[in-house]
Amino acid sequence: MSETDARQIERLKTLLARQKEAFSDQRHRPIDQRKADIQKVADLTRNHAQDIMAAISADYGVRSCAETQIAEIGFVISAAKHAKSHVGKWAKAKPASVPMTLAPGKAYVRREAKGVVGIVSPWNYPWQLAIAPLIAALAAGCRAIIKPSELTPKTADLMSRLLAEAFDESQVAVVTGGPKVGEAFTQQKFDHLFYTGSTHVGRLVALAAADNLVPVTLELGGKSPAILTEDYDPADAASPLAWGKFFNAGQTCIAPDYVLAPRSKVDATAEAVLEQVGTFFPDFASDADYTAIISDRHHARLTAMIEEARAAGARILQPKGSESGNARKLAPTIVIDPPVDSQLMTEEIFGPILPILPYDTLNDAIAFVNERDHPLALYVYAKDKALARSVLDRTISGGASVNASMLHMSVEGMPFGGVGASGQGAYHGEHGFLTFTHERAVFEAPKWHPSRLIAPPYGKTFDFISK
Ligand code: NAD
Repeated sequence: MSETDARQIERLKTLLARQKEAFSDQRHRPIDQRKADIQKVADLTRNHAQDIMAAISADYGVRSCAETQIAEIGFVISAAKHAKSHVGKWAKAKPASVPMTLAPGKAYVRREAKGVVGIVSPWNYPWQLAIAPLIAALAAGCRAIIKPSELTPKTADLMSRLLAEAFDESQVAVVTGGPKVGEAFTQQKFDHLFYTGSTHVGRLVALAAADNLVPVTLELGGKSPAILTEDYDPADAASPLAWGKFFNAGQTCIAPDYVLAPRSKVDATAEAVLEQVGTFFPDFASDADYTAIISDRHHARLTAMIEEARAAGARILQPKGSESGNARKLAPTIVIDPPVDSQLMTEEIFGPILPILPYDTLNDAIAFVNERDHPLALYVYAKDKALARSVLDRTISGGASVNASMLHMSVEGMPFGGVGASGQGAYHGEHGFLTFTHERAVFEAPKWHPSRLIAPPYGKTFDFISK
């Protein structure tokens, strides 16, 4: 282990102890203080928007500033606004009705902060995926330590500096480092662990959390399918498909991973998406709106996927683009009918490659999806709403959009999370608040309560069976 990692792990332990102590001094943070905490996060994001854009761009080589504004800065500011205006209502105790047999009495559920939470975040939306969970944690009245990804170090340093300026370390802190620090982080006795990243590491995080019986939210990945139905014109699907796939160069957990199209529509779908790509990015290599791949390793992984499919005889379509520009840019690529056992179809792609596979009947397409792990998102393109809903009825996924890509995740009031291999638990809006909240059931009896009559010796006082 490097000396820097070892130092960060020591620092983490000290921070955790300090935050736990501070939490036991203030278990119920007043709502005005929570609102002020959330506002601080919104303000530092807004006031340093240019710095955030610059840091993420430097980490990526090229990261579309418009995409950073939409998916990191705008997203976080609106999550903060939503949390700030609803936290008063969310935090109120919820009354429960008391059954006749327990009357008189009062029953209610207190919504209490869990305590000190750990947030481990990935590189693909390095601001949003650390700061949106932080907002939910602060709304719940928790304290938090964040461990951002080592692949976006400039963003992590900026986050660390800005949060340290805005918050005392006993409330919010950042520790930096790679997998070794992540491993040590998830072995600590947090009151909740919130992990976003790959399914492989998610499994390790779940195991580490289990050792301490720490509740854990896993926001993982997987292969999110898009099903084009027979009644939908491929030309109409091209824009949302290309936008969803090539936003952040496909490095999005809910990007449509692959398309299932009726056999007769595969070529038309591929051509329509390719044409759309030409409109979006006339010259992807020099286009500042076309994001680069995060690292050489991921670039090599994606290139190998394309080459394997090419060698297996799949048709590859790419726009004509200049060879200049950032070396880690990868051309938007469409792969027609790659083998189902190729890497492209067995691993989450997480890059700008769109496989299009033919199906003969909609039942076949649904069976294809259902034979695989439950995806994080599922997309259906259908003119007939009843048809779209019948696809939803027969499949399982974390979330879904109909005739659109990714938009379900931007509706504040809806839960965002996976199912099975794509994750467990959810956040966004009140769901995020509840993730970091313990719902404590309370029954208040008056000074004397009839339940005291239900005590041994029971004799014949009660007979629930014969009536
Ligand atoms: P990753 O799993 O490699 O890393 C994520 C974080 O985990 C990083 O901070 C890393 O340092 C840390 N880490 C690495 N090894 C660890 C270990 N052994 N123990 C604890 N922590 C460890 O993921 P990534 O490559 O950064 O992100 C890409 C993946 O994340 C994709 O699969 C994508 O689908 C998924 N993702 C999911 C969501 C979602 O909301 N569901 C959002 C974005 C990304």
